[in-house]
Amino acid sequence: MSKSGSCLCGAVTYTLADDPKEFGACHCNMCRKWSGGIFLGLEAPAETVKVDGGEHLTTYPSSPWAERAFCKICGSSVYYRVTAPGPHEGTYHFGVGTLNDVGDVPLTGELFIDEKPGGYSFAQKTHQMTTEEVMAMFAPPE
Ligand SMILES: [Zn+2]
Ligand SMILES: [Zn+2]
Repeated sequence: MSKSGSCLCGAVTYTLADDPKEFGACHCNMCRKWSGGIFLGLEAPAETVKVDGGEHLTTYPSSPWAERAFCKICGSSVYYRVTAPGPHEGTYHFGVGTLNDVGDVPLTGELFIDEKPGGYSFAQKTHQMTTEEVMAMFAPPE
């Protein structure tokens, strides 16, 4: 496990102040399309993140409350970041696969479990949340 990561081509790199302790999977339709599979996200507060080569990133505002950043050279899905005002604003969710060494950091949670295609599931027990539960937690107030 390491505290640094990069996109596939290496133009974008990042370092985290804290050791990754756990990560989550998101089964929502947007993460499925964006990542091409299951998005595995490592949460990191904005003030603990340093991104280098950010000029090589393109961000896509995928919803009113978040953007997704990918490398415009190699296409790696680097991070999902909350943009809506509130307690989660600025929080990064790095693609776990972009860590230079994922090690044995465990998968502990799954979001949008009701949108997961039926053909696969993780073997370990995780804290699973439905769309309704996730929306209640993250959606900006109306
Ligand atoms: Zn790249
Ligand atoms: Zn998602």
